[in-house]
Amino acid sequence: MSKHFLENIRKYNSCFQMTSFGATNIVRENYMPTFRVQGQIYHHAGSLLPLPDADHKFLQIYFMANSDEQIEQRCHYNAGTRREIVGALQGLFDQHNELVRLFKTAIQRMPADDYAVVIRADKRPVGQHERQFNAPTIDEVAIVIVGEEFESRDIILHRRSGDIQRVSETHRSYDGLQYPILFWRGDDGYQFNIKMINPQTGEGTNKKVSAMNYYSYRRMIRQNAENHILKCRQLFHQYIVDMYAKIETERLLYIRLNQTELRSEQYIHLRDAIVNDGNVNPNELGRMAILPSTFTGSPRHMHEYAQDAMAYIRAYGRPDSFVTFTCNPTWNEIKELLLVGQSSSDRHDITARVFKQKLKCLMDFIIKHHVFGETRYWMYFIEWQKRGLPHAHILVWLINKTTPDQIDQIISAEIPDKHIDPNLFDVVTKNMIHGPCGSINNNSSCMSDGKCTKRYPRKLVSDTIHWQ
Ligand SMILES: [Zn+2]
Repeated sequence: MSKHFLENIRKYNSCFQMTSFGATNIVRENYMPTFRVQGQIYHHAGSLLPLPDADHKFLQIYFMANSDEQIEQRCHYNAGTRREIVGALQGLFDQHNELVRLFKTAIQRMPADDYAVVIRADKRPVGQHERQFNAPTIDEVAIVIVGEEFESRDIILHRRSGDIQRVSETHRSYDGLQYPILFWRGDDGYQFNIKMINPQTGEGTNKKVSAMNYYSYRRMIRQNAENHILKCRQLFHQYIVDMYAKIETERLLYIRLNQTELRSEQYIHLRDAIVNDGNVNPNELGRMAILPSTFTGSPRHMHEYAQDAMAYIRAYGRPDSFVTFTCNPTWNEIKELLLVGQSSSDRHDITARVFKQKLKCLMDFIIKHHVFGETRYWMYFIEWQKRGLPHAHILVWLINKTTPDQIDQIISAEIPDKHIDPNLFDVVTKNMIHGPCGSINNNSSCMSDGKCTKRYPRKLVSDTIHWQ
């Protein structure tokens, strides 16, 4: 695949997407190798044909009179794309994308504008050996007269209308409509009816595959098998962010539908607090759902950890060490897994996984191998920096508090001897030295108003001071 194509792959996908992508807020910064959104993600679908005098957009472009006009229109909406690539992709989708073929057949079968095509959200389970990831075929869709009732998650595309429909996240064509480059045959994505397979017997079970199970499977690195999704750089980023939103939506839906089993009525005080809050009008609340504190990242989840930390401090004083652990994109474990031409910022899946493994290893060193002494408690928090690299802040409480004379054994601010420990020397000189900044290098990223924001260079101190 050409360099230009891979660097602009999201633009090329936009040329062909059949639904529009929206989010409450798409976060854009000057330098952003990640894809970030805030709030909800939604995909919208319009009608198959535009209203008279309106421009062809998204799916409608596929029905323009001739292919040159289509290419023209796609390039017009996506500046910086090349005609020959757009033309080649268009030929591919016209021939092999089942969704495109389905829409083209459907439109021929609709005599008037008050007709619509209905794609069911889930494939109805028919037999054991049904192929799960095929795209819907024309036999599976219904062509109906507008006004008939359908399930709320079904996609109903009018022949011609000004209405915009929101596509349900759990509709099986959600992925295929938005990511034609990733799913060039129009393949089905996640849906509710996929069942777990028992790996021993190869037979289906009654257990349902969750959205998280499904998307972990789709982005898995496999030996001797290509996974083209992992090659798609910026488009891969958008896809994983989008699908993670889907996973979280599914979890939130589960919590909303299972409040009784989750015993949320027992959070009586929390409920009282919400009801008594003068600013909240209970009539405007809709049906209240309470998130359990086990929901990662929720306010109550964070609050619980903060409370734990305060309790440790009350009982055993301040933590003995504060350790910061940052992800290094040039770690060998990351570089070995990158595909040809990729940089670590193309593969957040790898950096996140390697970081997690290394963090686990470091925690084992501290907790099981007692490098600082026996531990009483520990706690850590993982954050993502602007560049998309994770780092962890770790707090450790030891059984025997560190004494001032032990500090030199734990912290070293010296450059190690090059001849005694060349590896450590390399690590320290490469990663642990600040600067050069100040008058030598005014352009260093730490500089602001002619001063180093990290207060370097600092004076040498002859004694270690320990604040109790
Ligand atoms: Zn500095």
